[in-house]
Amino acid sequence: MDLKLYNTLTRKTEIFEPLQKGRVGMYSCGPTVYSHPHIGNFRSFLVADLLKRFFEFKGFKVTHIMNITDVGHLVDDADEGADKLEETARKQKKDPLEIAKFYTDSFLQASKLLNIKPPDKYPKATEHIKEMIDMVKILIDKGYAYVVENNVYYDVTKFANYGQLSGNTLNDLNAGARIEINQEKKNPQDFALWKHDPKHLQQWDSPWGKGFPGWHIECSAMSSKYLGAEFDIHTGGEDNIFPHHECEIAQSEAASGKKFVHYWLHTRFLLFDGEKMSKSKGNLYTIPELIEKGFRKNAIRYALISSHYRQNYNFTFDGLKAAAQAIDKIQQCVLRLTDLGKTGKQGEIREQLQDLAANCLTEFDAALSDDLNISKALAVCFDFIRQVNKTDDMNSTEAAALLDTINKIDSVLGVLEADDNEVPANIIELAEKRKAAKLNKDWKAADAVRAEILAQGWIVEDIPGGGYRIKRGENA
Ligand SMILES: [Zn+2]
Repeated sequence: MDLKLYNTLTRKTEIFEPLQKGRVGMYSCGPTVYSHPHIGNFRSFLVADLLKRFFEFKGFKVTHIMNITDVGHLVDDADEGADKLEETARKQKKDPLEIAKFYTDSFLQASKLLNIKPPDKYPKATEHIKEMIDMVKILIDKGYAYVVENNVYYDVTKFANYGQLSGNTLNDLNAGARIEINQEKKNPQDFALWKHDPKHLQQWDSPWGKGFPGWHIECSAMSSKYLGAEFDIHTGGEDNIFPHHECEIAQSEAASGKKFVHYWLHTRFLLFDGEKMSKSKGNLYTIPELIEKGFRKNAIRYALISSHYRQNYNFTFDGLKAAAQAIDKIQQCVLRLTDLGKTGKQGEIREQLQDLAANCLTEFDAALSDDLNISKALAVCFDFIRQVNKTDDMNSTEAAALLDTINKIDSVLGVLEADDNEVPANIIELAEKRKAAKLNKDWKAADAVRAEILAQGWIVEDIPGGGYRIKRGENA
């Protein structure tokens, strides 16, 4: 079945045609590691993960690269403001590399919690300075870039297709440009490829003196190193379209003379309770924060992938609870099928059940092949589960075949794989407190702690011999 994807570049839904049969090269703009990534960042990373898993479901071999930006990403996403990483480093009085390591670990941990399949590589910008310098040299040699006072700028007027991705024309952009433009630039929209700033904490030698790379050149250099100058898919958040991805195209296509990326996929913003997420509103939740609140990690994953990537998703705590209930439905069906698979009699698969399983997979494939129509795909999944739940007298062969169908669906959704049985550290702490209270025969305190544990969605049960067992309550 053909996969259709909406391509930001052409503004059309197109049939995906890989450059190499059966293979996909995919690059996703990863995190800038200056703070803990929040749910909004993860929606975009999860869409990339969903797409990659779906390609694999369809039998493609995917090479996926996601960069880690640890230098050069300035506050305004272009050439103004401090380097985001440096700002944090100065605030925390730490080395930028220390900051980068700390927040990269935080990102990797949260990715793991959300059951995101690791890309083939997470290249770091600071480890690819040579590749960036090489690309800047080519751009200067070809006349697309110029040097002024140890800075290198890209001359946007030299690239005829500038604006093709975002729809921004240079005339429009210039009309909206601020008066206090950088006097070094030939055109207000020219952007920095290499920056000279003696105060910057991270510096490298280059043919243009000491300095550091611009954010956009990082992704052009790293994507071409690992995927080639021309590859299939580039993903990112909608905020990456301009200037970041527009500039990536200008750099990469000017340097290689080839078409850079065939399909551009952008994920729309996440709203929190109907509002834009922001630091000032205090709603930039991180994954560990939500888990601390008692929400299950696979429910967070489910919620974040459950709406179409080209629509804003309104994230709410009620939505997380609904996601947990949806997963429970799948899990209950899995438990029953697993049990029947072990205890049921062996036998033939009834044709009707064979069709049920085959149709489910075909419809699931059709739904996601339609520009990742996840709502439809989930509806197919739950319809299947309803039918399975209605089926009595299943033999073990039938149960195994139906279970296999759910597992195939979950190879894309990834919600059953995420282990949600891990008890959070604070709950274990409370259980220990209760145990101590019981040892002291302080029954009142022990009961109070038990209630506190319950309020957080967990149940603590005593087991013979004096120990205890913690299990998930109804609302966790
Ligand atoms: Zn990027």
